[in-house]
Amino acid sequence: MVSCLLGHDFEGSFAMEPEIKEDFIAEAPSHEHRKPEYKIGIKPVEEGIVIDHIATGEPIEKIWNNIEAVRKILKLNVRSSHGVYHSFKGPEVYKGIISLPDIISFGEKDLKKLAAIAPGCTLNLIRDSRVAKKYRLSMPPRIYGFEEISCKNENCVSNPGKNEGVVTEFRRKSGSTFICRYCEKEHNFRDIWDI
Ligand SMILES: [Zn+2]
Repeated sequence: MVSCLLGHDFEGSFAMEPEIKEDFIAEAPSHEHRKPEYKIGIKPVEEGIVIDHIATGEPIEKIWNNIEAVRKILKLNVRSSHGVYHSFKGPEVYKGIISLPDIISFGEKDLKKLAAIAPGCTLNLIRDSRVAKKYRLSMPPRIYGFEEISCKNENCVSNPGKNEGVVTEFRRKSGSTFICRYCEKEHNFRDIWDI
């Protein structure tokens, strides 16, 4: 008796189609009988890199933010796909994945950077559709020497505004808390990054 709930005008699956008057929204033919080309999920990579387990267990919004931070800081502006997926760790546990079929090598500095942006993630090098190498990245004890980090204490000698030319450096205090080497201001590791 669904039709009763929707009223007298119910004639099919879409009882209440919106009447759109704005000219920047135009309905296009949907070719119902054609097989859609959209796919859910990530196509398996034959050669390339897959960054998996990004921000596993965090709220979905934080996982997306972390994916964005990885892409921006590592300048991954290449053909790729990414998304938030279920983790095998539980029904309400999610993780981020970035799939990069065009990248075939990853330098040590980038690995260190990735560990400091998305600790807990894995980096998989794929060759002939198999995982040829897998790196599990944990929170590093120090984060230093990257252009994209800065102490958020305006009065710190390492603050970019001070122009003292010292190398920004953070040391891990506990968990995800780092302290600036110079002024000892505490930062959550995500706040170290300027992006
Ligand atoms: Zn500082």
